[in-house]
Amino acid sequence: MLVPPFRDVPTRSTPLARLLLLSLLAVLLASCAHAPPRNPLAQWVPSPNHNAREAILVVIHATTQDSVEESLETLRTANSGGPVSAHYLIGRDGALYQLVAEDLRAWHAGPGAWGTISDVNSASIGIELDNNGTDPYPSEQIDSLLKLLADICKRNGIPREQVIGHSDMAPTRKTDPGAQFPWARLAQEGFGRWPHVPLTDPPAGFDPALALRLLGYSSDDHAAVIRAFHLHYRGIDSQAAVLDDEDARILHALLAKPGMQATNVGDSQEK
Ligand SMILES: [Zn+2]
Repeated sequence: MLVPPFRDVPTRSTPLARLLLLSLLAVLLASCAHAPPRNPLAQWVPSPNHNAREAILVVIHATTQDSVEESLETLRTANSGGPVSAHYLIGRDGALYQLVAEDLRAWHAGPGAWGTISDVNSASIGIELDNNGTDPYPSEQIDSLLKLLADICKRNGIPREQVIGHSDMAPTRKTDPGAQFPWARLAQEGFGRWPHVPLTDPPAGFDPALALRLLGYSSDDHAAVIRAFHLHYRGIDSQAAVLDDEDARILHALLAKPGMQATNVGDSQEK
């Protein structure tokens, strides 16, 4: 917070100077204000039976920029595309930066949905990875991400499977973290959903479109969802408009996984 230049205020201030000083103090106080802890409309009868609101989802991003320095600027300023942020940023060398406290709502997800969650920012922790959208992810960066994910999931009680990509929840707008992102490596540590069981042909009547919705994908734009699914589970950026037999086998394996249930997780552009 800026310190007002009190030493420049005359000792015997004029009415105009006092008005300016009061206006400045009012602006400063307003900029420091948070939501009131108690609503004056109600009688305050505090209960100890509560805890902080908690995230139930982690969203992985690629910055699609060229350097950590550039992204630290973007994530902390009112940039030309509107203000955005994330809780964390990880450099290609594995350096880890935190920009927003986990119990606050960062502006990383934007419009979209996952399962029943339609305001993903309010329910998630966002992690940006310094990546231009096409380069492979260095092992140092992924090792740092795995360490952070283990920490976040443990402290927040987030199931390890509740880790998704930005493209999964915003398939019509986003392709990050992209086809190069090593979801299989994450799955070795239990992060994200992955078809670990041997792939087999699904039974007659298996509905791949329904399976996508059960995973958490929106049903709004089927072609965009197929593209997001291919980015995540096949490492390809396809223009396919239909799901093929391999997609059906992957979806069947994802849903056949023990304990798999229909997920219940669920404005610059990213507000
Ligand atoms: Zn993103």
